[in-house]
Amino acid sequence: MPHWSPAPAKRKKRPPEGGAKLTTIDIIWIFVLLVIVGILPAAVARGMGRSLLKWWIYSALLFPVAVAHIAYLRLTEGSRYCPYCHARVRYTAKNCTKCGYEFIEF
Ligand SMILES: [Zn+2]
Repeated sequence: MPHWSPAPAKRKKRPPEGGAKLTTIDIIWIFVLLVIVGILPAAVARGMGRSLLKWWIYSALLFPVAVAHIAYLRLTEGSRYCPYCHARVRYTAKNCTKCGYEFIEF
């Protein structure tokens, strides 16, 4: 009858923490970063009379696409809406052509 000896405590080498593996914290940070940078195209979109929130979400999710999209819109459309009378005016206009509202540049 073979003598049963307890298996020696194996010191299993723990796999090294993978450098390429994303941790939850990394994902949160990437998300936070995207939300922060997402405000930039969203602010441009807002200046062109578009929804800030929609564009914020859009650029947080698809930042490169949103940047290209807003750049394209700005080049092709080149207009915005007067916050006072909602008339469509040239993006570069200093005053609304309809009511004379003066756009404040930030
Ligand atoms: Zn106006």
